[in-house]
Amino acid sequence: MSNRAYNFNAGPAALPLEVLEQAQQQFVDFNGAGMSIMEMSHRSKPYEQVNDQAQALMRKLYGIPDDYEVMFLQGGASTQFAMLPMNLLVPDRPAAYVLTGSWAQKAVKEAQLLGETVLAGSSEADKFNRIPKGAEINVPANAAYLHVTSNETIEGTQYMDYPEVPADVPLIADMSSDIMSRPVDISKFGVIYAGAQKNLGPSGVTIVIMRRDLLERCPKQVPTMLRYDTHAKNGSLYNTPPSFSVYMVQLVLQWIEARGGVEAIARINRDKTKLIYDAIDGSGGFYRGFASPESRSQMNITFRMQDEALEKQFIAESEAQGFVGLKGHRSVGGLRASTYNAVPHESCSALAAFMLDFQRRHG
Ligand SMILES: *Cc1c(COP(=O)(O)O)cnc(C)c1O
Repeated sequence: MSNRAYNFNAGPAALPLEVLEQAQQQFVDFNGAGMSIMEMSHRSKPYEQVNDQAQALMRKLYGIPDDYEVMFLQGGASTQFAMLPMNLLVPDRPAAYVLTGSWAQKAVKEAQLLGETVLAGSSEADKFNRIPKGAEINVPANAAYLHVTSNETIEGTQYMDYPEVPADVPLIADMSSDIMSRPVDISKFGVIYAGAQKNLGPSGVTIVIMRRDLLERCPKQVPTMLRYDTHAKNGSLYNTPPSFSVYMVQLVLQWIEARGGVEAIARINRDKTKLIYDAIDGSGGFYRGFASPESRSQMNITFRMQDEALEKQFIAESEAQGFVGLKGHRSVGGLRASTYNAVPHESCSALAAFMLDFQRRHG
């Protein structure tokens, strides 16, 4: 296919072409069933297989231990901001948050509606251009949990190492924009959650990986659909799931497996982002990275130029050459290239070449 854009959208974002083509092949007639996967009962054998295989493949590729539940929920990561404190807050134990940017702020805001919170660390004084270092993060020993935002999608920062937590304090990570982009030691976490639409599939499904003992924390008055134990007990089939989205996630997971798994994906991602970070660092200040180098994200590359007029020109010229999604988020401004798993190496090398050429013409 020749008319695929160089897609750097922040989310929903690029999907692997191979996955789109496979879905297209199966779209009208799923494996000879005479109907699309969307037209089937979620209690049917073919759909149950999709659901089971997606969960099993995620466990295998991400190294998820047996004492963790994998759930496919709805409502996006934004619903998790509230569902987590609803289920996991404990009386007289504050929920601890590290404030690293726009998404962390939204997460803590929801917890504040529901109980006591405490800031364990913040980089707000530096305009969220970095992730606080381990020693800057102080978690009360009695915290109900510590919440971190693994990758700040808007600012373009990412944890290289996750903070240490006191023995009885589960670590919770919003990995919406970097799930399965690199290997992580799942056993260090109580909960990992992510909307699928950045690294794993289309919008509509939210992945929650939760250590099983935490399912028991949920207070009695929390409504059925907002309880993790409801979904865990029913294999994410308590009510009608977002079946097409889960099916697409299954295909993306198979695609990750075919590329050699999460470790191979991480290597490919590093090679991709190096092209663009090198274009920034080699520009003599023409392009200026927003994130402090030690906190640079492998998923969202944020940068600015000397003035907004030049940035506008950059966007206009890039769009004319087939690049999409390079405008920075309105809260930070400047430019942003989102280089999720499915963004091909070719898109990144084309962007690096465009940046060089743009600088030559306007520098
Ligand atoms: C996109 C994003 C969200 C919000 O996800 P929704 O699925 O739209 O609710 C939350 N956190 C991070 C880090 C994100 O990148």
